Amino acid sequence: MSKIKGCVNTNCVDYKKKRKYKSTDEYCVHCGKKLTFVCKDCWMPIEANNKVNYCMRCQAKHDDKADKVKKGVNKAAAVFGILSLGALKKVFRR
Ligand SMILES: [Zn+2]
Ligand SMILES: [Zn+2]
Repeated sequence: MSKIKGCVNTNCVDYKKKRKYKSTDEYCVHCGKKLTFVCKDCWMPIEANNKVNYCMRCQAKHDDKADKVKKGVNKAAAVFGILSLGALKKVFRR
């Protein structure tokens, strides 16, 4: 995924519409202001050398989601482990 640029001039129609520019675009076609790399979620300006498409806050949110998915899988594995342990005990009782 490539980063996006946006106009950060709050008076500009492109800012209000959150128009996405390519990273190779330099200036806003409406107000002529220099475009800035922006976060895909909240439209906050981000560092040009930033590797991600999101600001630190939104990136954390995305990381959080990924973490929760991992944790959910672990929980399912744990539950399955307990169930199979119970099944094993039943087998041994016989
Ligand atoms: Zn503009
Ligand atoms: Zn953001």
